[in-house]
Amino acid sequence: MDIQKNLEEVLSQLPPHVRLVAVSKFHPNEAIEAAYAAGQRIFGESREQELNLKQATLPKDIEWHFIGHLQTNKVKYIAPYIAMIDAVDSYKLLVEINRQAARCGRVIPCLLELHIAEEDTKYGFTFESCRQMLEEGKWRELENVTIHGVMGMATNTDDETEIRREFGSLRSYFNELKQTVMNGYEPFREISMGMSHDYLLAIGEGSTMVRVGSKIFGERE
Ligand SMILES: *Cc1c(COP(=O)(O)O)cnc(C)c1O
Repeated sequence: MDIQKNLEEVLSQLPPHVRLVAVSKFHPNEAIEAAYAAGQRIFGESREQELNLKQATLPKDIEWHFIGHLQTNKVKYIAPYIAMIDAVDSYKLLVEINRQAARCGRVIPCLLELHIAEEDTKYGFTFESCRQMLEEGKWRELENVTIHGVMGMATNTDDETEIRREFGSLRSYFNELKQTVMNGYEPFREISMGMSHDYLLAIGEGSTMVRVGSKIFGERE
């Protein structure tokens, strides 16, 4: 696995406004160090224990994104250092992130995860429930979190039309929020979509942040 070569290839395909979260879950520190040596600073992890171990032993200027489902009782372990929580899927979780961020004297950037795939998954807001939460407006009182945008995962399929349709639906939804309930709320600007097998399609549909793992680091065990 030539991690640096893979990383350069992915980076060369990203337009200037699209950032890369290098998804390093299940890969050892050495793999992260190789990407770090090539200049990558944003890494994504999906398990709190694994992330804590890596954060403690790797360079402190790494910006760690938590990309997986986060249980409320685990927030306190990552709150001191996490750069962004990419998959906030309930108001309850947002409240707990705010509480733990306040204890650390921090403001934690978050993305709201939307359920856009055909597949059944347990996680993610529906478009309706997310809009309702935002319109209700209680989140505005949470002074230790900022909502930086939306995140979504397309159906795992080879049907490119379907993938484009799902990413397009997230982009339209983001635009609609930006013009309505999030109008004037400056941090709201990210659309995190696209993984190893579909990031080029996601960029075509307006992604601002791709989360790419196996294309850079190889298959996970
Ligand atoms: C694992 C994971 C990725 C990266 O997946 P690859 O197919 O390896 O690029 C991206 N986003 C989330 C939420 C993930 O859990």
